[in-house]
Amino acid sequence: MRRVMVIDTQRCVGCEACVIACKTENRVPAGAYRDWVVQETTGELPNLALLIQSQRCNHCTNAPCVANCPTGASFYRGDGTVQVDRDLCTGCRACMASCPYDARYVHPEGFVDKCTLCAHRLDVGKPTACQEVCPTSAIVTGDLDDPSSEVARMLRQSDVTVVHAEAGTKPNVYYLNGAQR
Ligand code: SF4
Ligand code: SF4
Repeated sequence: MRRVMVIDTQRCVGCEACVIACKTENRVPAGAYRDWVVQETTGELPNLALLIQSQRCNHCTNAPCVANCPTGASFYRGDGTVQVDRDLCTGCRACMASCPYDARYVHPEGFVDKCTLCAHRLDVGKPTACQEVCPTSAIVTGDLDDPSSEVARMLRQSDVTVVHAEAGTKPNVYYLNGAQR
């Protein structure tokens, strides 16, 4: 199994419902976020375009946070996601320093936290919290190893980008109609 997320930037309206849903579902503390929305205006007047991207941990296949974690707290779960074992995390922040996406934060209880791709929900057949609330269905998760899955179809049929491909981390969050940032 290889869980991935596909986000259509042309569907995203920047409402941040995904951000609020994530905070609620995962009890993310005040002032911290597991996902966020980036908006960027490109082009020159009068031909301007607005790029909106809902971003989070990319659950990288080649994850520097895993490679640099001294305790094994950051690990590949075997389903395509990267997770943090809170009991093994010492809060040293080596993972935070090595992540090109600034996707992690220090939880007030001392461990480092980030998006889990709502693995606890996917495991029981539910969509991620952000996918469930997105009013425009911009977010889709699924198993890329299943050729009949919606994510597999979307990635077959469309040009996709990932954030900071040059970092060599091989992200598993893909963007349709997006731009590398
Ligand atoms: Fe974009 Fe959907 Fe998130 Fe709203 S909920 S910001 S439309 S991805
Ligand atoms: Fe690790 Fe950052 Fe990649 Fe997430 S985005 S797997 S925290 S390197």
